[in-house]
Amino acid sequence: MLLHQGYVELYHHGFLHIKSAALLCAVGLGIPSAIHRCGGEATISDLAVKTGVHPAKLSYLRRLMRALASFGIFDTDSRKPDDTDGSSVVYTLTPVSRILVNDGDMSPLLRLLARPATSVSTFFAMEAWFRDGGATTLFEMVHGGVPPWSLTKNDASYNEAMNDACAVDSGFSMDAMLEEVGGKGIFHGLTSLVDVGGGHGAAAMAIARAFPHVKCAVLDLEQVISKAPGSASDGTVQFIAGDMFESIPPANAVFLRHVLDCWDDDHCVKILGQCKRAIPTRDAGGKVIIMNLVVGYGPLENVVKETQVLFDMYMMRYGGAEREEQEWKKIFLEAGFSDYKITPILGFQSIIEVFP
Ligand code: SAH
Repeated sequence: MLLHQGYVELYHHGFLHIKSAALLCAVGLGIPSAIHRCGGEATISDLAVKTGVHPAKLSYLRRLMRALASFGIFDTDSRKPDDTDGSSVVYTLTPVSRILVNDGDMSPLLRLLARPATSVSTFFAMEAWFRDGGATTLFEMVHGGVPPWSLTKNDASYNEAMNDACAVDSGFSMDAMLEEVGGKGIFHGLTSLVDVGGGHGAAAMAIARAFPHVKCAVLDLEQVISKAPGSASDGTVQFIAGDMFESIPPANAVFLRHVLDCWDDDHCVKILGQCKRAIPTRDAGGKVIIMNLVVGYGPLENVVKETQVLFDMYMMRYGGAEREEQEWKKIFLEAGFSDYKITPILGFQSIIEVFP
């Protein structure tokens, strides 16, 4: 029995790359939006018509949908007893496919996570990287020594993929976070905030909408700020091109969402040192607000635990890390901060308030 269990699991793990590729394919074909446009339920032939799948591929589309339904990406009603080819099966949306429908579409995030050149292919070089004694990151090894934040400068399509993914991810999670108990309270009492490494400003805009009296700014690299659609708009959020290792504009609070996990401990201490210079004392309301994972925090379901460690490996290829509480504490103290408070949010992430 045990031997069989291992045998099935070996097949299962060996096939997992097909799972994210099948999901990418469904998104590329526009299947979640097609189901939505059909009123929330669609048969295989409805889907073929709406997505432009060739009629010769109907039976293959049924097999793709059967696989995706078994992963929980779509739901199905029960098949009619006399249905031999699955044509009567009706597909509906589930929580994960619902956020891949056109409006509020999270597909740019999926496209970045499973992007062949900058994500998938890098992991196939992992074995060689482990054998190498140099300080080169896995990402740099695969990209001719170029780190991700230089590649965004040289490769317009990677820059766009990165900025679009960050915009939908931070917009979605900030709106959800600001609705959660405890989420909104974190920003109470602030008069100004700078979102460092804030991409195209989706998080800063969400904060500015929820707290119109807070003066919000975004600091990011020139290649990111120059492409930000918001940078030319109404001025509710100020966009600043610059390098966070050199200086951070002064504010009540510095916000860092998915920034510190891109870097090793030494770089994090340097970034946090610049943050400390930008904010006032704790008594004057100064703090750094970090939105990231704290590995081990959050619900204990397997999907949460696995997502946290996969996230860590995803950042490991940059030379970054997802950290446990003790690892965070070490860099906070080293950067001269005195205290911190962790609030778990959104199922698998956390907000860490760090006080000078
Ligand atoms: N905060 C956003 C983006 C996170 S990705 C979000 O949560 O979606 C990390 C961001 O850090 C990128 O936008 C990248 O351009 C920016 N970044 C990297 N190096 C930087 C530097 N030296 N100075 C300022 N921003 C930097």
